[in-house]
Order: sequence, then structure tokens, then C-alpha cells
Amino acid sequence: VVNEDSVNYQALTDEETEKLKATEEKFEFQTEVSRLMKLIINSLYKTREIFLRELISNASDAIDKIRFLALTDPNALKATPNLNITILADKENRRLVITDSGVGMTKKQLKENLGTIAKSGTSEFLDAIDKKNADMNLIGQFGVGFYSVFLVADKVTVTSKHNDEDKQYVWVSQAVNDFSISEDPRGNTLGRGTQIVLHIKEDASEFLEEKTLNELIKKYSEFINFPIYLWSTKE
Ligand code: ADP
Ligand code: MG
Repeated sequence: VVNEDSVNYQALTDEETEKLKATEEKFEFQTEVSRLMKLIINSLYKTREIFLRELISNASDAIDKIRFLALTDPNALKATPNLNITILADKENRRLVITDSGVGMTKKQLKENLGTIAKSGTSEFLDAIDKKNADMNLIGQFGVGFYSVFLVADKVTVTSKHNDEDKQYVWVSQAVNDFSISEDPRGNTLGRGTQIVLHIKEDASEFLEEKTLNELIKKYSEFINFPIYLWSTKE
């Protein structure tokens, strides 16, 4: 670690986690989303490292979006001017934290994009897979996306701040049937953007290793136009 201060990550304390309940709203994953999650978890175990590709690509898309908005609205970047992606491995607490200063998500977008509205084509894709018994090519073409985080994490927290809202929100799921969204008791810590905290599964410790992460980032950042910083806590 060069300088801990430069990683914008404050884990929710136990007290703050308790406070999430005060404003918590629960939502069920849409049926297609649940089916997709199960399919991903059951068929992609051998290539589970792809979760990082998906998270880097989502972060990059989000930064593209805010950069585009900034072309017509000079204030769009104000809250967080630097456009980058940081990846922090917190071995001690078994957490992998991916932060981007992209466009962020409003509360409604967190709810819709991460659980209640499946991407178009999902049910057609799932029907095709059912018949063909998890054809890897089909899965590759469809793009597994965000839900691949559950290949390596048993709990995921997504914190997001969008310019259109004053509040920052926290999305939490353990990949069962539902997820929750709460106001962030820490206030607005991101300025703008999204922070994804993966609580790494017992058998996925390799994804907390600096060496593994470095290799994966190199592999998946070839077409990413923004800096990606990797931090890891001292042992
Ligand atoms: P896709 O990227 O193919 O749309 P994903 O499952 O990867 O599908 O992501 C679903 C949606 O969630 C994205 O389209 C985007 O709207 C939203 N999303 C995911 N990650 C982020 C992020 N880091 N910042 C902003 N929005 C995000
Ligand atoms: Mg994606």
C-alpha cells in the first residue's frame, strides 16, 4: 500500500449496518433474474474469474456515460472530477472492493438494473439454454454481466451516488431470492459513482491475492480507456 488515504473506502460499521434497516426496502429478484443467477452459479464455476471482467466493463461503461453527459453539462463531473476505477483487496476482512467514478445509479436504477428488470432477451436465452443444457457458447454470446459476482461472493453490497439525487443508496444481496435498498447512513461518501463490495467466499481466496488480481486486471483492461488502480492491504 502506497497511501491508504487515497482509497475512498469506508466499510459500513456494525452500527451503520444496523442503521440500514431504518430505511430498508426489500425487493424480490425477477424470476428471470433468479434463473439467470442460478444458471451462472451452476455452470460457470470453472471460469469464475470472469466476474472481474464484468465488473471492470460495467465500471468503464458507467464512466463513458458520465463523460458523455459532461460534453453538454460542464457541471456533470464536478462532484468527482477524476475518472477512474480502483480495486482494493482487503484480505483481513475478505473483501474485494471495486469503485468507479462513473455515472452512478439512482435508487430506481439500483432496483431495476440490479434485480427487477431482466435485460432484454433473458427469457429467450434461458429457454434456449434449458433445451441445450448450458451451452457455453450461448452463455458467452449473451454476456453474463453483474450477477457473476455471486460466483465468488456470498454477499454483495453496491453503494451508488448519482448526480440526479442528493442521497447515496446501498443495495445488499446474498443471492437468495431478494435484495434490499437503503439510504446510506454514511451519507454521501462517493461524490458520484459506484462502489461494489464483494464478501469473498471461503473457497475463493485467490481473488484477494494481489498477484492474481494484477494478472486478471491486465487481461481484462486491454480495451478500457480509464486508469485502473489496484490496492491491497498490508499483511
Ligand atoms: P449489461 O452491462 O450488459 O447491461 P450487467 O448485468 O453487467 O448488464 O449490468 C446491468 C446494468 O446495471 C447495467 O446496464 C447498468 O445500467 C447497471 N450497472 C452495473 N454496474 C454499474 C456501475 N458500476 N455503474 C453504473 N451502473 C451500473
Ligand atoms: Mg455488463
